[in-house]
Amino acid sequence: MSVLLFFIDGLGIGSRGPFNPLDGLEDAQPLAIFRDEQPAVILDGIVVPTDPRLGVEGRPQSASGQTTILTGVNAPAILGYHKQGFPNAAMLEIIRDNSIFLQLSRAGIEPITFANTYTQRFFDERPRWVSATTAAIEAAGLPFRTVADLKAGRAVYQDFTNKLLIERGEDVHPRTPAEAAAALARIVSENRFTLYEYFITDKVGHAQDMPAAKLILQALSGLIRGVLSMIDMNRTSVILTSDHGNIEDLSSRNHTLNDVPTIVWGAQRNRIAGRIKNLADITPAIVETLTEKAAAHR
Ligand SMILES: [Zn+2]
Repeated sequence: MSVLLFFIDGLGIGSRGPFNPLDGLEDAQPLAIFRDEQPAVILDGIVVPTDPRLGVEGRPQSASGQTTILTGVNAPAILGYHKQGFPNAAMLEIIRDNSIFLQLSRAGIEPITFANTYTQRFFDERPRWVSATTAAIEAAGLPFRTVADLKAGRAVYQDFTNKLLIERGEDVHPRTPAEAAAALARIVSENRFTLYEYFITDKVGHAQDMPAAKLILQALSGLIRGVLSMIDMNRTSVILTSDHGNIEDLSSRNHTLNDVPTIVWGAQRNRIAGRIKNLADITPAIVETLTEKAAAHR
């Protein structure tokens, strides 16, 4: 039994209309989900509209949302605010003590991994503030995947097409969504828990760039369909989620107050979907899924 958590930054469930890039977009399954409509999701996926506001006033933000997703701790409720950008000291403490990687390690679930690629520049320049996931991986003592891993088919960059890496001078080939899916599916097959993260949705949402939004949502949908078609769905649960809405409403440069789509496919999808109401439920649902199965095999 294994789990893939597929994280997309800034994707909410919006209404149809001229400001929603998913409305009328071809090849946008499974991401074409609209408010007040029964979703028809491929491969028996179950859509759970999920609350990213977490009982705290204001627009949901990345640092607090990602901290909550990755720990099961409702960070905005504990701290009293949503926080954008990178986690602050209080959030880093929550991550270091409670991350899903730590919880799974302590339960003896291995191997577990973050599929994303880190560049040498990241290690050389070591930014002062890092993402929730970077902090979680470091605190759990897990290795980062590198550009060399990517070239060997063992890592996926967050911009899975490799376009951004190439623009930054990295010696890598462009990848189609299907090629990136094959690399990610291989990582999933070799691990009990895999996390993959994609951030360009939020960036394009802030830029209110409709043509770019349509292009990346099509490519991202292709990546997801590819992964789902290549992994063993009888022994893998796939959970897709987001930290807050943004790209589904390009009428504003801000994050939205919309629910986000959590979509669950594969093994135990009904049980996992039934367990999720808000972003703090993702980590417990995954830990339960993997540890109960581990116990049953003993
Ligand atoms: Zn944002």
